[in-house]
Amino acid sequence: MNDTSNEQQKNHKLHPTTQAIRTHTERTQQMEHSSPMFLTSSFCFDNAEDMRAAFADETDDNIYTRFSNPSVQEFIDKVCVLEGAESGFATASGMSAVFASFMALMKAGDHLVACKSVFGSTHTVITKFLGRYGIEYTYVDTDATAAEWEAAMRPNTKMVYLETPTNPGLDLVDLQMVSAITRSRNIILNVDNCFATPIGQRPLKFGADLVIHSATKWMDGQGRVLGGVVVGRPDLIKEVYAFCRSTGPAMSPFNAWVLSKSLDTLHVRMERHAANALHLAKALEGHPALSWVKYPFLSSHPQFAIAQKQMLNGGGIVCFELKGGIEAGRNFLNSLQLLSLTANLGDARSIASHPASTTHAKLTEAERMDVGITPGLIRISVGLEYAEDIVNDIKQALNPLSP
Ligand SMILES: *Cc1c(COP(=O)(O)O)cnc(C)c1O
Repeated sequence: MNDTSNEQQKNHKLHPTTQAIRTHTERTQQMEHSSPMFLTSSFCFDNAEDMRAAFADETDDNIYTRFSNPSVQEFIDKVCVLEGAESGFATASGMSAVFASFMALMKAGDHLVACKSVFGSTHTVITKFLGRYGIEYTYVDTDATAAEWEAAMRPNTKMVYLETPTNPGLDLVDLQMVSAITRSRNIILNVDNCFATPIGQRPLKFGADLVIHSATKWMDGQGRVLGGVVVGRPDLIKEVYAFCRSTGPAMSPFNAWVLSKSLDTLHVRMERHAANALHLAKALEGHPALSWVKYPFLSSHPQFAIAQKQMLNGGGIVCFELKGGIEAGRNFLNSLQLLSLTANLGDARSIASHPASTTHAKLTEAERMDVGITPGLIRISVGLEYAEDIVNDIKQALNPLSP
């Protein structure tokens, strides 16, 4: 849970970036400047009465790291500041944040509406697991109109779950349009903001009730640790906290310490990731080996107007379609010399992936097409290397494929 420190209150007029950087655990008697890592499973009490009061929730004292921990709290507080949220809870991974937000807030008989192209494991949770607990779902196309979103709602719809931009297709959902529908029907709007980060998009401002992150990606930024976080409306976070406190997907204090340090540089990193990504997208547009290039801040993006309305930058992912399909995808990956072939994204090192032959290979071609994964789709997670080096590696890998 988010307890606002004195320093944060004092700083409330400052820009969120400044506030996040100046958010830290209470200084110990050692007078350290950098926040220490509170690598401890439990916390001590001076006497029986203090211990009783903590267990009775009469105080905010830390009891046990499955419930709360100062290093984890520091990370949560920073994400809250960046997202403009009042409250939050951090989890061991992005998926535990997604799952906890579902299980804490829905019950048997409830209905979930989600945009069709969601992260692979989120898709598995929605389609394979929620049904076991009696929770139904409806998928809506990412480019659906307000009327089509409206039509998916039922009297028992409890939550709308969105990703924007989507992975890997970079489709956008108009947050203001969907939140107008969820607000009028008292439905929880839950947004996975992993791709944009709070530097690129703040969904709470556009009417979302909850924001989820896989902190594993851009927040860490160097591919080291897993983490997840849910922030937003305090009444909803209270439920997420109660669920997690007893079921145990707690974030490790070590990971929280790493991630909290990472957040201090998130704004400069994301500015450079986005600048490199825009540079790459522009350099590749019109290349003879490609049928299209997609990036939210390219004016050729079909939903450019939505990007301009709700995003502060286009993020660090660029997608393109190779004319030669699956085979060209494999050849492209094999020809890269600088970019890494790895499953992660959001790293200082640029990464290329070919979903049709890897992450989504188990789906049929029709299933892949349904979520926008065309045979020659390549996803680039644009890193912090010198922009021209990234462009040159991709261009030399495309050259043998040019017709
Ligand atoms: C990676 C990812 C997740 C899952 O996060 P983990 O930390 O891997 O569990 C969820 N949503 C999106 C958009 C992601 O990219």
